[in-house]
Amino acid sequence: MSEQVVVNTSEQIPFQGTDLDEQWTSVKTRLRQELGDATYNSWFGHLAMVSMEPGRVTLSVPTKFIRDWLETHYSTQIRKAWAGVDPSVERVDILVTEIRTLEARNNDARANGANGKGSVRPVSAAPAKSFPNPAIRTGNKEFDRSGSSPLDPRYTFDNFVVGKSNELAHAAARRVAEADNVPFNPLFLYGSVGLGKTHLMHAIAQEITRRDPSRKVLYLSADQFMYQFIRAVRYKDTMAFKQKFRTVDVLMVDDVQFISGKESTQEEFFHTFNALIDHNRQVIISADRSPSDLEGIEERIRSRLGWGLSADIHATDYELRLGILQSKAELLARKPGAVHLPEKVLEFLAHKIVSNVRELEGGLNRVVAYADLVGRPVSLEMAQDVLSDLLRANERRITIDDIQRRVAEYYNLRLADLLSARRARVVARPRQVAMYLSKQLTTRSLPEIGRKFGGRDHTTVMHAVRRIEELQLADTTIREDVDMLSRMLEN
Ligand code: ADP
Ligand code: MG
Repeated sequence: MSEQVVVNTSEQIPFQGTDLDEQWTSVKTRLRQELGDATYNSWFGHLAMVSMEPGRVTLSVPTKFIRDWLETHYSTQIRKAWAGVDPSVERVDILVTEIRTLEARNNDARANGANGKGSVRPVSAAPAKSFPNPAIRTGNKEFDRSGSSPLDPRYTFDNFVVGKSNELAHAAARRVAEADNVPFNPLFLYGSVGLGKTHLMHAIAQEITRRDPSRKVLYLSADQFMYQFIRAVRYKDTMAFKQKFRTVDVLMVDDVQFISGKESTQEEFFHTFNALIDHNRQVIISADRSPSDLEGIEERIRSRLGWGLSADIHATDYELRLGILQSKAELLARKPGAVHLPEKVLEFLAHKIVSNVRELEGGLNRVVAYADLVGRPVSLEMAQDVLSDLLRANERRITIDDIQRRVAEYYNLRLADLLSARRARVVARPRQVAMYLSKQLTTRSLPEIGRKFGGRDHTTVMHAVRRIEELQLADTTIREDVDMLSRMLEN
């Protein structure tokens, strides 16, 4: 597990040598002749030469979308074109050159599972051994960041859109990043995958070093903590390990749920953690669930993790999703020759891609890449077309039936009672919660929801939605219920 990153190869690896240059030019000419200008420009315009080894050529493109497209539609032509120019070439690999940290790739892999949809991941599967690690360039010069993972320069506070669901986590993160002393220790950020935990962690790390470059900030995932620890044990180098981890000003460990079950790592983590807290050094942890829900982690650690401030990031709501898309669209619009994104399309995406922010971004990027390639303006039809798989996956995710079942189960009610006309509070409140969740988590209209709840009027549903919104502000039990249910439904 090394800290590999795929970087912008066209800038970093100069491709020289007239021989290869000539070969590459004639390959391109062959492809252009064979496929025609339009197709060539759409799909091959961004193709760049990366390297050549005996029998093997590596090319690169800017997005995974293009890479996948080329691989499924044109791999034979590309290989033939090369073989025509240099018969020794047997294999042509295509890399994606977007900056992706290992951490982000691990997250993606986990979020998507082993057989998950690969289509939204701008991830390169190709090796990137020879590429420099950007952490070394962007990192803090006075401090050996060798134990630290790369920070994504795009993950800043400025680029983080704040809404109801992440307000607390954002405020706490800012507070920690801007404070001169330690406001709460540890800061524990939690929420399900793709909701911005890593983004906030990187933002904190970058803000702290920006304000005071002399502060030693160590950011890494729990996996990497474990890996470094195990390696230290194996090479009998635990003193150096302890030294490194216990002399930092700020220790940030992302995705701490991954140390569950690993006893010796937990033990070491716990000692490190205690030592830092005792010395008033800031510790920041993230996980996909709250400290008390971390199964497989020792009780004393769980309880200690909850001592500082725990801030959770909830599922996004429509407003936040739209806000995030608008902010991305603004960033995109600044690029020369940018594709225009109609508000209608953004609204459509915010409505339809409810799973998490990573998928939402992935969807937007795909539409933009497609429009750019085919040279047509972005339209609703195009978005529907390009994202059909993603939209289906999101639709499949939550139905009103799922919600009703879950809510009944959660409140220990029979489904029939939940849908009945009974008005007793014990059933009426859960019913309102279920209606509220149906409005938030599905794209069904109020009348459709009403019909699903025993043929009720849409005004009843509207009333329920408002009531639960109000209650969430006033009543922590309701708020927790709603959070818990949304999270269970979204996973
Ligand atoms: P997590 O670590 O919780 O799984 P990430 O921090 O990796 O999630 O977020 C997934 C993607 O969504 C990242 O590209 C991140 O920049 C983006 N993202 C998440 N929340 C926000 C937000 N509130 N504003 C802007 N971008 C966000
Ligand atoms: Mg993460």
